[in-house]
Amino acid sequence: MNSIHLTDEMLQAYLLKEIHDDSIVTHLTVCSTCKDRVEEYRFLIDSVQKIETETFSFNVTALAMNNIMRYAKRKSKKQELTFWGLLIFLLIAISSFSIPFIPRILAIFYSQSILTILLVIGTGLVVLLFLVADITRQYKTKKDKIFKNNLQPIL
Ligand SMILES: [Zn+2]
Repeated sequence: MNSIHLTDEMLQAYLLKEIHDDSIVTHLTVCSTCKDRVEEYRFLIDSVQKIETETFSFNVTALAMNNIMRYAKRKSKKQELTFWGLLIFLLIAISSFSIPFIPRILAIFYSQSILTILLVIGTGLVVLLFLVADITRQYKTKKDKIFKNNLQPIL
């Protein structure tokens, strides 16, 4: 039995296959102290390598996720643009259709009391608010559905 034990550096180099020294192998077969130490190092190195592998695979998932998110974002942005374009078009269309009726509507207003006018305007605003809220809600639901469908393949 050798009186001089293997150094930590030698054990690590041996496990990482940086060196191939027969004297180390020979020493390990006869010295239980160094054999225990080498087993401890082997466990440590295995653990570190396992963590590295997991980190790497996580990064790949994150990368793929990032790409999917970007794709979904781009898609939803396009839809958002279409949505607002359609809304503006509808508003313009409704406005232009209602222009001929404006004098008549104004005539009705002029013949009524302030209270009636306020009531009519208030009702109109509430109806408009509900309409916009409903459109926005529907749009959001649709967007969420599309977004979830895009994510499904990787789940
Ligand atoms: Zn030893």
